Amino acid sequence: MDMEISHETTHKQHQTNQDTSNIGQPHESLYLVLPYLPLFELLAMGQVCKSFMDALNNDILPWLNIVVEDKVPRSRVSDEILMKILRRRWVGLELHIPHCMGLTPEGIIKAVTTLNQHNVTLKTLKINGISNITKEHLQTLHSLLNTYDTSSIDLEICPKCDEPRMVYDCPLETCDRKWTTGGCRGCKFCVLRCEECGKCVGFDDDDNEAACEDMLCEDCWIKLPKCDFCNKPYCNKHAYKQCVIPGSSHFICEASYMTIDEI
Ligand SMILES: [Zn+2]
Ligand SMILES: [Zn+2]
Ligand SMILES: [Zn+2]
Ligand SMILES: [Zn+2]
Ligand SMILES: [Zn+2]
Repeated sequence: MDMEISHETTHKQHQTNQDTSNIGQPHESLYLVLPYLPLFELLAMGQVCKSFMDALNNDILPWLNIVVEDKVPRSRVSDEILMKILRRRWVGLELHIPHCMGLTPEGIIKAVTTLNQHNVTLKTLKINGISNITKEHLQTLHSLLNTYDTSSIDLEICPKCDEPRMVYDCPLETCDRKWTTGGCRGCKFCVLRCEECGKCVGFDDDDNEAACEDMLCEDCWIKLPKCDFCNKPYCNKHAYKQCVIPGSSHFICEASYMTIDEI
């Protein structure tokens, strides 16, 4: 039903567009597409014509959350571009800009301060992978977001190394180390984790290295299929590295394949 209604609307808009008074205007249904375009395409669309520029400035861009995803070339996001977006009276609530190497902590603080001056308080801020973020930067950002809720910013101070990092907990309530002094909460540099389930590893002899050199807890190690030659499994992320043995459901790992090849 919904589909039919929207089809009719588009049809009507198409007819309106045939009207000579609209010559030179973009097809109205294009505006329906704008909110689904990635940020950079949106900004580029703004260059196309004045009516797009107006739509971006007044209607669409200010309401979008800024989420820079993996596939976007992150080097394109700079302090300058960020401010350019904010100057469009941006009121989105999520600013997700991880690993954007063109951004600086100072630039991000300036951006969030500008938002505050316009009475916009971010709900979530993702800045993992931005270079040179210090404890002080993180404290400033928390006070700008007006919350010490640890889930509002993706970085926290690691209880082990005291650095601003992504901090992980054991996903398993039953982890013995969780409740001991020091626990197993920490950043990836301080606590090794099973590649599959995230449980802390490296404390027992039962923990094992996978064929891809990631660490696996005993439970996950047991469940995964093993190399026919060295009996090591690949984690699921690296399962594509399995060298399949023709006519069999077994595989050998890359390292073993090289060894066999040399013999
Ligand atoms: Zn740490
Ligand atoms: Zn595991
Ligand atoms: Zn643990
Ligand atoms: Zn092997
Ligand atoms: Zn792996």
